[in-house]
Parts: sequence; C-alpha cells; structure tokens
Amino acid sequence: MSPDDQPAIDQSSLSAPQFQTVDMDEMNRRYEKMAPEKRVEIFMKDFEADDILLSSSFGTTSALLLHMFSVQEFRLPVYFIDTGFHFRETYNYREQLVSLLGLEIRDVVPDAEGHRRAESEHLWWFNPDLCCRINKNEPFGELKRVHRVWVSGLMHWQTPRRQSLKIFEESDGILKFHPVLDIQEEEVWKYLERHNLPQHPLRSQGYESIGCRHCTIRGEKRSGRWPQSVKTECGLHL
Ligand code: SF4
Repeated sequence: MSPDDQPAIDQSSLSAPQFQTVDMDEMNRRYEKMAPEKRVEIFMKDFEADDILLSSSFGTTSALLLHMFSVQEFRLPVYFIDTGFHFRETYNYREQLVSLLGLEIRDVVPDAEGHRRAESEHLWWFNPDLCCRINKNEPFGELKRVHRVWVSGLMHWQTPRRQSLKIFEESDGILKFHPVLDIQEEEVWKYLERHNLPQHPLRSQGYESIGCRHCTIRGEKRSGRWPQSVKTECGLHL
C-alpha cells in the first residue's frame, strides 16, 4: 500500500507526552526473573494502556510478541511503519496474523513529499540513512513523543549490539521494554509451532531478517539487511 493512499495518523487523537522516570534497576531486577509471557502479563498491569506503544515490522520473529500481547485481557493497537517499500509477502503475512490474532493495525506513514523524493532519487542506494529517516524514524518519532513506553521484540542473539540491551532501557526520551530479549532463536520457532502460528513466507526462501525490499536480500540473521551499505540498523533502535 502506498503512503499516498492512506491518511497519516491523526495527531490530535493522541495523548500528551507522559514520560516519567522509573527506577530502571529495580524494574530490571523484577522482570529478569520472569519468563517472557509473565513479563507481558505483569507489564500490562504495571502500565496504563494509553501509555504503551506496541509496534511490529511483521518480520520473521514478529508473531511471537504479537501472540503474547494478543492473549492479554486488554488488547493494544499494533503500529506498523508502512514505508510503502515492503515485500508483498510481508503485507500478506500481516493480514494473515491480523486475522488469526484479531489485531488492530495502525499504519504509520511517511510524509508524502518526502516519500516521493525517496522513491524518485532512489535514496535507499544513495543515502539510506536519509531514506530511513524520512520513511521510518520521523513518522515513528511522533508516536514516541506521545507515549511513555515502547514495546519492542528485539532479542540478544540478533546482533552484537543487541547483546548488551536490558529488559527496560531509556532511549531518546522514551522507556523501552524488551520482553523477549533473552529468548533463544530456536525457542522462537518452537513457540510459533506450539501456538500454530505461521512463519513469514520469505523465511523458507532464505531471508532470516526482513525489512524493505530495496534493502533486503537472503542471508543469515541480519546479514541480508542493507547489503548496499555499511548500515546495520534503520535508526529506530539506536
Ligand atoms: S530500509 Fe531501505 S527502503 Fe526502507 S526506509 Fe530504510 S533505506 Fe529506505
């Protein structure tokens, strides 16, 4: 779906910024002892639903976290950054999980003019940092400003940098919550199997990490991301 086809998020409907400092060490000590499913359950009691920003890229490991949140009593909307450059298979997978888990998706779309520029100048080749800023970081930054805590499905095994993350971190003015951080790669696939959750259709074709189609090739772990540059992250998690 092209960003031109859908309305941007109505910012007036969003609540005011509510970031408050929490005792991160104490929170980490408490949550570290819990299994990932328990963390999600307790987190939903510790935080107000309006304060929580849950996002998904609908990549190879996304179904795990989406499933854990979908079985909670209170259902959160799932924000999806629609750069307009995703694989058709990713959109199809998203629809499959929406239907299976009863998700409410809210698309986050880039500024239409910036998006057109990225497309016409092939920024993913010539300036991928700018391309990610226009299509991902700026539109998502608006949401980060009006939420207190952002839930992300990062895992230690994915990259060397992610190995040093903690369950709760403060980053760029928002608290981040990583409930599945310490889950091992094999456990992800077992969890999907146990809960009859489908895999992203491109994984069986050798894509272990999936982003925009211009910047993703087959490869182990995240080695297939941004093959045209030294870039390893889009910037959302930096
Ligand atoms: S991942 Fe690639 S195509 Fe997508 S926004 Fe970033 S540079 Fe652009």
